[in-house]
Amino acid sequence: TDQPTNAPTPTGMLLIISGPSGVGKTTITRAVERQLDTVFSVSNTTRPKTADDVDGVDYHFVTREEFEREREAGELLEWAEVFGNCYGTPRKPVEENLAKGRVVLLEIDVQGAIQVKDNLPEAFAMFVLPPSEEVLLNRLRSRKREDESAIQRRFAKARHEIRTARESGAYDTFLVNDDLEKAVAEAVRTIRDELARRASS
Ligand code: 5GP
Repeated sequence: TDQPTNAPTPTGMLLIISGPSGVGKTTITRAVERQLDTVFSVSNTTRPKTADDVDGVDYHFVTREEFEREREAGELLEWAEVFGNCYGTPRKPVEENLAKGRVVLLEIDVQGAIQVKDNLPEAFAMFVLPPSEEVLLNRLRSRKREDESAIQRRFAKARHEIRTARESGAYDTFLVNDDLEKAVAEAVRTIRDELARRASS
């Protein structure tokens, strides 16, 4: 039952998408999910659930104690604290889906991406950038979700995150979201190209 050597073997890929809030990262991630056959990795988080969140779909909402227990037991592939809340990727579903040859999508922050790339350098990491800092600030303001001081906090965090992303060397590609439709198309194309490159090498 030997396979011909040129038969495509199912090789999974760990795909990381990061980017500061206000950059369209979630929209791009959702579009990638729809257009490519990916499995979204549902993270554990200690942050409070909002009206937009579906437990078990967007996140698994857990207590600090539960989070700490899983972290200490080595059940998280990576974890980070963002704005005072803990976020982490459950290891087991990621490993199982990779073993099945699936593309597993992690929407995680820079700290998490660095940890993943340290352990699994074959992960493919994409960082979504705003066209400029000015555009980012305007986008954060136009969401009208927060007061100016919260917006300024997010903006400062975003600038820091972009700097860290560039300096870390953890990202394989940077995607500028100037026009959402074009950015989605470019994200899908970049990932398809990477999968094709791996399949042929
Ligand atoms: P939010 O609370 O707005 O959904 O997410 C806040 C930040 O946490 C985002 O940058 C998001 O990408 C990041 N994040 C979500 N899940 C994880 C995770 O499992 N690990 C890490 N490192 N970051 C995460």
